[in-house]
Amino acid sequence: MGKLFEETADKFKSYVMPTYAPSIMFVRGKDARLWDDEGNEYLDFASGIAVCSLGHCNDRVTRAIQEQCSKLVHISNLYMNELMPRLAEKLVKESLPGGKAFFCNSGAEANEGMIKLARKYGNKTGRNHIISMENSFHGRTLATLAATGRAKYRKGFEPDMPGFSQVPFNDIEALKAAITPDTCAVMLEMLQGEGGVFPADKDYLKAVRALCDEKDILLLCDEVQCGMGRLGTRFAYQKFGVEPDIITMAKAIANGFPMGAIIAGKKCADVFEVGNHASTFGGTPLACAAALAVQDAFDQDGVLENCEKEGEFLRSELAKIGEKYSFVKTVRGMGLMIGVVLDRPAGGLASILLKDKMVALTAGETVLRLVPPLTITRNDSKLAIEKIGKALAEFAKQEGLQ
Ligand SMILES: *Cc1c(COP(=O)(O)O)cnc(C)c1O
Repeated sequence: MGKLFEETADKFKSYVMPTYAPSIMFVRGKDARLWDDEGNEYLDFASGIAVCSLGHCNDRVTRAIQEQCSKLVHISNLYMNELMPRLAEKLVKESLPGGKAFFCNSGAEANEGMIKLARKYGNKTGRNHIISMENSFHGRTLATLAATGRAKYRKGFEPDMPGFSQVPFNDIEALKAAITPDTCAVMLEMLQGEGGVFPADKDYLKAVRALCDEKDILLLCDEVQCGMGRLGTRFAYQKFGVEPDIITMAKAIANGFPMGAIIAGKKCADVFEVGNHASTFGGTPLACAAALAVQDAFDQDGVLENCEKEGEFLRSELAKIGEKYSFVKTVRGMGLMIGVVLDRPAGGLASILLKDKMVALTAGETVLRLVPPLTITRNDSKLAIEKIGKALAEFAKQEGLQ
């Protein structure tokens, strides 16, 4: 560790609440590369946490931010902002035509807004209970924690916000049994991220959609992690062929500039009225400029096609390497949201990779999660495969396996 890291770590220890425990410091990034404070170069298969999906400091996004920040950084939502309706139009036309968008600043905030919207919709008919999924993750605010299907995140923050319950994911009978006259919405991630890179079954989602239609229940999809191109389609639900009533997004929406968004389809596009919901920074011109540049990249740079192609390559190569080790149970995922599933905690494997200058994540304890930029090159995919191959061999040795 260099001197700059040590000084910074001391300050962190003294002045920053210890909600994170960083062990490494990056000072520069470009595309799928990061550099630490000592000039070491890393291959980045984390992209923040699925945030910098066009790679670090993408030229298009950087240019858009630079140009916009010399024109107008912020204007209150009390005044018209040219870029915000333009971004709303683009996102709505690409997803739920006839719908409307609301902009905020993070994933939890988008989900919070979606929950409020669903409650307002349901309360008209005296219903306000939301059913979400076990093993899900929806954020760290009080309502999104109550929706999150992992009790460990809620521990110590009791009382839980009322109006939520969870059922097992991909289990239609459990969902049917849980629906009551109070139910106004079902909330899920079509591909669970934090929970361990778990995709929904298409048939399950079709059945959920039918059930929601039958009972006038809203289907809420948290696409904060699996959306915005990550699965090879602009929106995650497009990969599954089942249309939600409301979608939230955040992480990759502006390639690292903080932003969140809600898109409500036709049925509930006008539930929020003047004064119902607000955000000081939501849809600020700078964020919108960055998000519009991301959309331009999807339209003009072949980003989604590259995601499909490299995702397929990585998953098939990983499956081949995985077969050599009994502790690798399977490789799953879609597009460039990939999980290497082990039969034991995956943290050690991620540490070995980091030592070999590759950044990767874990998810749900036993899963190595790979979320490289959607713009990853074939050469970098190959380099990643080589590094993961070496890391698995090293991990096997460490664990006393072969
Ligand atoms: C990251 C994440 C969130 C929370 O987003 P924040 O921007 O950290 O508030 C919510 N839902 C999912 C699926 C996520 O992956």
